[in-house]
Amino acid sequence: MTVIATTNKLREVLSKGQDPHLMTGEQYKESLRDGRRVIDAQGNVIQDVTKHPALKRGIDNLAKVYDSQFDPETRDITTFINPEDGKRYSTGWLVPKTKEDLKLRREMLRLSTYHTFGVFGRPNDYGSMMAMGFLSIIDKIEKENRQYAENVRKFIEFSQKHNVISADLIPDVQTDKNLPPSQKKGLLRVVEKRADGVVLCGAKPCGSVGVQGHFATVSTATSPNLDPDAALWCAVPINSPGLTLVLREPVTNPISEFEDHPIDSFGEETDNMMLFDHVFIPNEYIFSLGNTRLLGLYRESCALCHWHILARLMYRSEIFVGAAQTIVDILGTDSFQGVRDSVSEVISYSASLKAHILASEEEAELWNGVLVPSTEFVTAGRLQSILHYPRVMHILRDLSGQGLISRFTSKVWDNPEVGPVLEEYLPGAGVSAREKNKFFNFLWDLACGSHATRVALFENTNSTNAPVVQSELYRSYNRKEYVDFIREHLELPKVRREIKRLYAVDLK
Ligand SMILES: Cc1cc2nc3c(=O)[nH]c(=O)nc-3n(C[C@H](O)[C@H](O)[C@H](O)COP(=O)(O)OP(=O)(O)OC[C@H]3O[C@@H](n4cnc5c(N)ncnc54)[C@H](O)[C@@H]3O)c2cc1C
Repeated sequence: MTVIATTNKLREVLSKGQDPHLMTGEQYKESLRDGRRVIDAQGNVIQDVTKHPALKRGIDNLAKVYDSQFDPETRDITTFINPEDGKRYSTGWLVPKTKEDLKLRREMLRLSTYHTFGVFGRPNDYGSMMAMGFLSIIDKIEKENRQYAENVRKFIEFSQKHNVISADLIPDVQTDKNLPPSQKKGLLRVVEKRADGVVLCGAKPCGSVGVQGHFATVSTATSPNLDPDAALWCAVPINSPGLTLVLREPVTNPISEFEDHPIDSFGEETDNMMLFDHVFIPNEYIFSLGNTRLLGLYRESCALCHWHILARLMYRSEIFVGAAQTIVDILGTDSFQGVRDSVSEVISYSASLKAHILASEEEAELWNGVLVPSTEFVTAGRLQSILHYPRVMHILRDLSGQGLISRFTSKVWDNPEVGPVLEEYLPGAGVSAREKNKFFNFLWDLACGSHATRVALFENTNSTNAPVVQSELYRSYNRKEYVDFIREHLELPKVRREIKRLYAVDLK
């Protein structure tokens, strides 16, 4: 591979560690001091992302997941031993080939979700999913260019060896949809082809975790009508010269304390706009170029991403069930049937997501040697997860009553005049008033505050919203057998082939 700054930095950092392919949290932080160009919400260039108030806590939080690779209690979840060389690698870069692999990945996902309360939609173990999605459709890439297919394999191998965090960049910048792609100035496109690579200009939006990671994996799989110069799948090192990451406004307070903000005080996953000003991408990082046949292969190339997104929400939903029950227990509202019904709705949400995930793994299929959970169950589950998420958030808020508003900061509780009075007046069932207050602070972060709203937007949109998922389900859920049954039973003419094709798409 071409030696460029990111890879040099990763190699340098790993060479100083105790394990050849695993980074500690400190090594991870060091790896981010690589000359990347980031603009903060005040419009200033950030000198060191690991120290900046908008980024520090989120980076520290991800660093703890890196550290768990060395903790004997979690090591066998967050890492695995490759039988080929006997060395340990991050589970986040395990290519799933068997159901056991998927289960181990899901255990890792459980760990990262419980660790971050799932508010990091792109935790350490997510980044590989898109590249592995490319691997799962490698036959289609190979048809275009054998070298590009080889590049995908090498990128995965490289990322596995260097314990990389990677962001996804799929949608195009938001602009007037009536404009043809050639008139969209911000569209990321190739402006120069060189013998050793391509030069890119334009932008990509919404790169969640990008600034806290090492690479962005780019595809144009949701944009079926692009012209060849904009049809591009590749990997982009975050510190590439000419690349600028512009951060959105933070949604957490950088100095909040644990007691006041039990989730937000661990920071956030930042989203950013990536501006490309003649960014050089070496040949080795190109996965597809100018191939308009690959455009629109969103569901296929992102099947593993979607499984990860749904499984994370499944674990988040367990946290929602725990939160709902704790509200009821603390407020002593268990005897009301209406309250029990509301908790049951949250339980049903969680159980339904779990059922979709388990079914998808049970019916997983090998695509080019990668075990891909059933896209039918994942798509159907994602629709449920998106449609009912606002309702679950509403239930959590509704069950809480004034608990979400009669909350006070730790400084108020420490006040000798009002603290003891509040303590006397506001106790919950089996918890002191201050403990009850802390719980509702947690619930605020989970379901009400700015951070919770950003996460709700993320859950709704990050991998296309409900109408798009609905169309996808209609297009691809195979229901031929049931249609044939009814037609045969009623002796109706067989359904016409062209109609049947509409709902029996073979994605492989
Ligand atoms: C917090 C957050 C984080 C994100 N992080 C990532 C990330 O890390 N990586 C990544 O690749 N993407 C990410 N996304 C972006 C996400 O993939 C896009 O927002 C999504 O694909 C929708 O595209 P758009 O925003 O350009 O919406 P637009 O295309 O501008 O559409 C606007 C709205 O119009 C409606 N609409 C548009 N098209 C249709 C249609 N065909 N059918 C029905 N309704 C339609 C929908 O209501 C849609 O929300 C993130 C989004 C959010 C909000």
